[in-house]
This record gives sequence, C-alpha cells and structure tokens, in this order.
Amino acid sequence: MTGVAGGFAKDGAVQEQIDATIDDAVERVRHRLPRGESLKHCEECDADIPEARRKAVPGVRLCVRCQSENDKQSTAFAGYNRRGSKDSQLR
Ligand SMILES: [Zn+2]
Repeated sequence: MTGVAGGFAKDGAVQEQIDATIDDAVERVRHRLPRGESLKHCEECDADIPEARRKAVPGVRLCVRCQSENDKQSTAFAGYNRRGSKDSQLR
C-alpha cells in the first residue's frame, strides 16, 4: 500500500503546480483587461476615439492606430523573447 500513498503524494504535488500556473495565468489576464472609463482622446497621440470604439472596447485608452502599433510591438517582443531563451538553452 505504500506504493499507492506515494502515488497520491506525487499527484498532489503536480496538481498544486497546475493550480499555481492557472492562478498565474488568470492574474496576468486580469492585468491586461482595460479598467475604468474609456478615454475620449488617445493616451498616445491625443486623437479622438470614436464613441463606437469606446462602446465596443470598454476602458479603451488608445486610438485604433496606436492600439495596432502597440499590438505589433508586443507581438514582436514576445517572439524575440522566445527565440532568446531557446538560444540560451542550447549554449
Ligand atoms: Zn493614438
């Protein structure tokens, strides 16, 4: 029966790790959600943000142009990070 008990302990540890990962992911998603009032003017370039966009994206802070620039930059940065960590593992 010791084998079974050992198996349970191992499963528990793995489950704890999974829970921690999910908590982490939920926390990260929460930080990315827009908060508060939608801005009438873009935070970056001060352009008017159309009311339709403010209603479609609650808490919007950037105009369409700045938002897409922002998305492009964060995507490029994520790609760079992934390649970087792979390189350092190989060397
Ligand atoms: Zn803008």
